[in-house]
Formats: sequence, C-alpha cells, structure tokens
Amino acid sequence: MSETARLTELADLIPAAESLRDIRHHIHRHPELAYEELQTGALVAGKLEEWDWQVTRGVGETGVVGTLKAGEGTRSIGIRADMDALPIVEETGLPYASGTHGKMHACGHDGHTTMLLGAAQRLAVTRNFSGTVHLYFQPAEESGIDSGAKKMIEDGLFERFPCDAVFGVHNHPGAEPGVLLFRKGPFMSAGDKAIITIEGVGGHAARPHLTVDPVVIAASIVMALQTIVARNVDPSQPAVVTVGSMHAGTANNVIASTAKLELSVRSFSAEVRALLKKRITELAETQAASYGGKAIVEYIEGYPVVINSDHETDFAIEVARELVGDDKVVAHTDMLMGSEDFAFMLQQRPGTFLRIGNGVGEDGCMVHNPHYDFNDRNLPVGAAFWTRLVERYLSR
Ligand code: ZN
Repeated sequence: MSETARLTELADLIPAAESLRDIRHHIHRHPELAYEELQTGALVAGKLEEWDWQVTRGVGETGVVGTLKAGEGTRSIGIRADMDALPIVEETGLPYASGTHGKMHACGHDGHTTMLLGAAQRLAVTRNFSGTVHLYFQPAEESGIDSGAKKMIEDGLFERFPCDAVFGVHNHPGAEPGVLLFRKGPFMSAGDKAIITIEGVGGHAARPHLTVDPVVIAASIVMALQTIVARNVDPSQPAVVTVGSMHAGTANNVIASTAKLELSVRSFSAEVRALLKKRITELAETQAASYGGKAIVEYIEGYPVVINSDHETDFAIEVARELVGDDKVVAHTDMLMGSEDFAFMLQQRPGTFLRIGNGVGEDGCMVHNPHYDFNDRNLPVGAAFWTRLVERYLSR
C-alpha cells in the first residue's frame, strides 16, 4: 500500500507537533477580539496558500475559507474553527503570553485554529480523499450576540462553499488531553440575554413615601425570577436564569429614579426557551406595576441550542475510536450549559460539535480564566482527527 493510500494515524502527525506548537504560540501571543482577526486571518490564509489550498478572504468580515478538491468525488465536508480572543488580562506568565494588554486567548480558539491548520497541511500532502473540503475559519465566536458563524452564513457560506455535513470542536477542561467527547442531539444550551429597566420616581431618602423606589422593585424582581426555574419549568428540563448584573443609585441619601438588571438565560429546547422569555417578561412587568413602577424588558436571543445529528455524530465517534482507541472516546458525554455559535451552522447542515479534553486537576483551569492555556498535546490529536474524518467521509 502506498503512503497516500492508507488512512492517517495519530503517529503521522507527531512530527508536526513542534511546528504546530509554534503556530499556536504565535497566535496566542497576538490575540485579536471579535471582527478584529486580521493578523490571525492573514496567518491562516498565508499558511493555506503555502499548502496550495484555494483561499477566500473576508467571508463574514474577517473570516477565511480554505478549499481543497481531490479526485472526482461530488461529496463535500465543512470543518470550522474559531479565531477570536477575549477581553481578559492574561496572568499565565508564559513566555508566549499575550503581547496585547487586555486581550487574551482564554478560550483556546488559538488551539482550535491550529489543529485545523495541522489538518490542512496534512491533507494537502496526502490528498487521500475524493471530493471537496472546506475549512471555515470564523471570527467572533465570543461576541455573544453578533455571531461570526451567523455572519459567515449570511455572507453565503453554505451557498458559496457548500458541504454535506459540518463539524467543529471545542477544548474541554475537566477531561484528560486527547480524550474526544461526543453527544447526539441537544448538547449545548441556548444562551439569551434579558435587560430589565425599572422606572420609579426618585427623591430624598428621608421621604420614601413620596417616591417609587426602583431598588425595592429590582430586589423583588430578582427574588421573583428565582421561581421561574423552580415553579414554571418542567423539572426534567434544564434551565438557568441568572441575574448577573444589578445597578441603581448614586448615594445613600438618594432614592434612584431607575434601576437596571441584566440576565443570562439558558435552555435546551424551543419550548423552555419561549417559556423563560414569557415568564421573565410577565414577572418583571407585573412586579414593577404592583409597586407603582414600570419595568421595560428587552429580551435578546443569543445563540441557539447546539443540536448534533445522529448519523454524523455516530460517524465521528467511529473515526475517533479508530484513531485514539475506545478508552479515549466518550460517546455520550453530559449536556453543557455553555453556548456556542456553531449552533447556527448546525441549523443549516447536519453535523456534530465535539469536545477535546484540555486537562484535569492543575491542568484543568477553566476557560475565560486569566490563567487558562490551551493544551499543546491536543494539537497533533486534533489535526489527525480532522484529517482522518475527511479521509473517511470523502473515501474514494
Ligand atoms: Zn470558546
């Protein structure tokens, strides 16, 4: 059997580990926030061109798409990596720590991008498939509302670079590095935001009877909101309503005129999501009215639920088992309350979003923490997984 006729093994990517690590550290050192990923996008595009991929820049503002065809096959596959960093001051003290104060790759998107580049390099050499591969390097996963995945889709991603199925990965603190975790069906929650503005009547702290105190209304709303998950949502359905921010007032002897609450709302089904929106609005409005004030609720729908299709998830699990062995594959991991804008891509195409362990114990620092770092041991594993997934999906 010739070198190019056999499927990629983990060992094939080990020689690339060092160069992938250098790429990852470079991206880590130069973090860019949502829709600012110009240097990162240029690095990605440059590497892809060096490896003879066809490159399209500016898809969804700062997104980059790489395309590689081989053989006569008509099937196609899409794989996505996110490129953006977070507005966090890095405290890792690493030699390749962020060179830009206040920006940091604290969610491992530097690693996601590098693993996919590793696959791009390998696929360009072996070309052991028949069909079309599109790699979607997307901006702005962290933006929460103004999603980079959505922007790429609105820019014609799936018409201009069509695929039969789409795949993506996120690193996963709390599992050993190199372990691949999967789940069919709903996997990660929808994440919405609600802003409640309470209007009262301000005045002197010593004359409360002449005011409508928005602080009291806000406090009452916060407590009432706790009953939604406890008393309105079916106990078998996961849901979260968190008041993450509460602001009112300027001084101890002043009763404020307004107060503001900001909520994070998570759910796993369209029914629960609609119920949460309805109850938050009703409760806030009626609580405020009962005190003689007014609540204005702005409900902003963020990322939808990540729903993995059965067939593509089974396929990806099969490839993972071939590559890393059964003991490093979790086929039915827990649902996660975090949100992911890859959900928008999964609304357009069947596919799966998987997780790769980033470390446990001391190495298990959670994402969005100033001490977090992507685990470099995953670079060859992720690159080999994407390569083999393509080879198997587009098998000759
Ligand atoms: Zn992330």
